[in-house]
Amino acid sequence: MQNKTLAQRVKLFIETCHRHRLKITPQRVGIYRVLIQSKRHPTADLVFRAVKKEFPNISFDTVNRTLLTFAGIGMVEVVETFGGPKRFDPDISDHHHLHCMACGRIIDFEYEGYALLEVPKAITTTFKVISRRVVLKGLCDACTAKQ
Ligand SMILES: [Zn+2]
Ligand SMILES: [Zn+2]
Repeated sequence: MQNKTLAQRVKLFIETCHRHRLKITPQRVGIYRVLIQSKRHPTADLVFRAVKKEFPNISFDTVNRTLLTFAGIGMVEVVETFGGPKRFDPDISDHHHLHCMACGRIIDFEYEGYALLEVPKAITTTFKVISRRVVLKGLCDACTAKQ
């Protein structure tokens, strides 16, 4: 998980936009800020609703397109969602996910052991592994308590 402050992450974001010749607009910075302050791996709709408070005239389409642009330059990741709407993860460092199948919560976790996870030889000869993410599907504590 990234330990940088909000200001540091916004600075890094602006540098990355410059590198990709992406114009820095107050809306883009606003969208990125909403994203890095959310621990929920939000959908475009959730980001849209939060950003709208600051920029009442912004459209869902703009927010959605901007998020995909951010993903394109590697500033956010699109998260595996098993058929639901796309969700976005501003934490691009190596980490793993607990995915609650009942409420959809995605909880970040780190575990060194997974960095050592053996990749079958049949895969490494034909596929270059660059990063690993383990997704554990199940029920979060709140959903378990409801059962
Ligand atoms: Zn749950
Ligand atoms: Zn995550």
